[in-house]
Parts: sequence; C-alpha cells; structure tokens
Amino acid sequence: MRYVSTRGRSAAVSFSEAMLTGLAPDGGLYVPESWPALDPARLDGAGSYARAAAVFLEPFLAGDRLAPELPAICERAFDFPVPLAPLDETTSVLELYHGPTAAFKDFGARFLAECFARLPDVGQAAAATPLTILVATSGDTGGAVAAAFHRKPGVRVAVLFPKGGVSPRQEHQLTCWGDNVHSFAVRGSFDDCQRLVKQAFQDPDWNRSARLTSANSINIGRLLPQAAYYAESSSRQRRLRGAPSGFVVPSGNLGNALGALWARRAGFPLTHVALACNANRTVPDWFATGEWKPRPPVSTLANAMDVGDPSNAERLRALYPLRADLLRDASAASVDDATIREVIASTWRKSGRVACPHTATALHLRARLATGQWVVVATAHAAKFDTIVEPLVGTRVQPPPALAELLSRPSRCVEIEPELRALRGGLD
Ligand SMILES: *Cc1c(COP(=O)(O)O)cnc(C)c1O
Repeated sequence: MRYVSTRGRSAAVSFSEAMLTGLAPDGGLYVPESWPALDPARLDGAGSYARAAAVFLEPFLAGDRLAPELPAICERAFDFPVPLAPLDETTSVLELYHGPTAAFKDFGARFLAECFARLPDVGQAAAATPLTILVATSGDTGGAVAAAFHRKPGVRVAVLFPKGGVSPRQEHQLTCWGDNVHSFAVRGSFDDCQRLVKQAFQDPDWNRSARLTSANSINIGRLLPQAAYYAESSSRQRRLRGAPSGFVVPSGNLGNALGALWARRAGFPLTHVALACNANRTVPDWFATGEWKPRPPVSTLANAMDVGDPSNAERLRALYPLRADLLRDASAASVDDATIREVIASTWRKSGRVACPHTATALHLRARLATGQWVVVATAHAAKFDTIVEPLVGTRVQPPPALAELLSRPSRCVEIEPELRALRGGLD
C-alpha cells in the first residue's frame, strides 16, 4: 500500500515514510492510494481486540518495513478493553476511554509510539538529533501523545495547547511529564496552535536543523488505528444486534469521523456516520450549504471539539469528490452548550451513566435520528471534565486509576505567544 497527498503534487510514499513526514511536502495530507476490500467476517474470529485490529490494518501496511511487526505493535498499543455497552434497545455506547489518558486519543498515540519505536532511523538518531514530535492539542491529544512517548529514546515531544482553553484535569495531563516532553501554554486558540505546527514544518531553516514530525490527527499513523476500532466494533455490533448500525461521532478536527468513513469504505457495516459537532458550525454549515467557510473557533463545554478550521476536512473531500455521495453516507449537526448540559443531566437520570460533554453531543443527536440500530461513540471519560459534569449530576465522578495517578504528579509548562520564534526558544 502506498500513500498519496490530498493535493496530488507529492510522490507516493510507504506507510512508514508518510508517518515520519506527517504533512506531505506539497502541504497536503497523506491518504491511502486505494481501498482494500476486506471481509468483515475475518475479524470475527480474531479472539481479541488487538488481534482484530492487526487483521484490519494488515493491507494498509502491506509492503511496509513495519508490516512484520504489526501484530506486536497492536498487542502493545491496544492493551485495554474497548466495550460496546448497551444503552437501550436500539443504542449501544462504544467506550473509547479505557486507555491510560481516558480519551480515544490513546488509540492513535499509542499505535504511533509503537511504530516509531520500531523504526531504526528513530532509535539510531538518539545520540545525534532526536526526532521532534510537534503536537497541537485542543485538550486530549497532547496528553495521550505525551503519555505514549514519555521517556521513549530518540524522540522529544513539544505539546502546544491553548492557554485557558482546556479543562483543569486535561491541562494537568498535558503538563505532568518532564524529561523528553515539553509543554507550551500558547496565548491563543487551538487553531493558533495548529497554525504554529504547520509553520514549523514550512520553515526551511528549522526543518533542516531539527527532524520534525507531527503527532496530530494529520498523521496517518494516528488515523488508521481510529479506522480499526470502527471496523472491529461495527462487525461486533452486527453480531450482537443482528443488524448493521449507524454511528454517531462527536467531531472537531474530523479525525475520528474520518476513521469511521474509512472503515465503511473498506467494507465494514456502518450504515451511516452522523457527525455531532458543538457550537462550532463550520462542518454542519458545509453539509447544509456546500460552502467551506472556516472561521475562528468559539469556546464550548466540549472543548476538544472547539475547532473552526478542521484540517481533516481535506481528507473528507478527497474521500468524497462528489457531494451527493457524502450526503448519502454522512450528516452533521451542531449542538449548543445548553443542550449539552441538559443531556448530561437527563442521561444520568434515565440510565445512571455520566457522559462527558463531547459524548453528550452524540447522545443528543442519536435521539433525533431515524429508527434502526445506532452506536453512540463515547470519546472521553466524564471524570476528565469533573468541573462541568459533577454539578449537573450531583455526585462525584471518580477518575479511573490511571488518570488518578497522572493527576497526583506535579505539573510544569512554559507560556508562549503564538509565534514560531517563541516555540523554538522554548525548545532550545
Ligand atoms: C479529540 C476529541 C474529539 C474530537 O475528535 P476529532 O477527531 O478531532 O474530530 C471529541 N471528543 C474528545 C473527548 C476528544 O478528545
């Protein structure tokens, strides 16, 4: 399998190269050159989530130097459960928050870290120039990447997050590392952080002296494992419910929803993919009008989805050159903060389940969708957003043990202006 740029002006590369480069040289994003047709039944007998993921990913790494290592990579990366919990007769909840930092970002970050660790050019460079992984985060990515790469040889990580734009527990997770992890509180928005990362890649001087790569959802190594859990859970759900399901996906930068649509394209039983967005309306408006109008992000309770110019839209357009096809397979809607609050409270009353604000957008959308079976994707554990959810449900939400351990560590970060110079200065 080769990977090509969405802009079509870069050479096709292997999976490893695409992963190490991050952004394609022409400024586009890497996507698979073709879509393997996979038989979903092949995942059914795999025996564990990790083995099913390896079966799904096999054709995507075919011919790559990491291909022989794929089963071991998946065993190490996906060593936590991926439950599909029934909510009612027609709805299940796909819980993607059982990894070490309690959000779905652990899947991509851990897969990426296991891949990097097995590439000789990373390990051997340990003494000379370490690989610098730049990661802009709207809340959860940075913590997952920091956790996955902390103390890994040959790599250093720069985490950029919008100062004041993440929950207190998210911030703690971004700043409790030290060693090879550098945390930057940027005076600006997530889009400013993302822009800084893009600028760093385009800066010839910096790109020459430092070996840069990205761990954002622009990195193909994070997206493929996200397609894997849709492949596995859609087949599992069909076995459990006797019919294929639609999926409702809380969406911001569109990496998670793209994983769902990639799994669908590879032949897995997802009847429809509904994108639940917060008050940032760029994507729902695009679905409604066909016009792509990025705008500055607004802050919401579902802060990891506060994105006004989602970079993965470029991949979505590449997957659906025809708008009519996109509208047939997918839809998008915006959910405001008042509704998020209401849904967290009512879900708790009705089911005893505490939803995080992101998951709440999808729960709301589920109630408005057609009949049939649906899977609501739960993207984070509610305990990461204790200051929002606890007053709404009137009870303490205990952090899972791995999260509790991180929260007990001291934290440290450097505050910078959203300028390349400031970032470089903080790293040197
Ligand atoms: C990152 C994140 C999202 C948004 O996912 P995208 O891939 O950016 O669309 C939703 N919920 C949570 C909890 C997240 O961390």
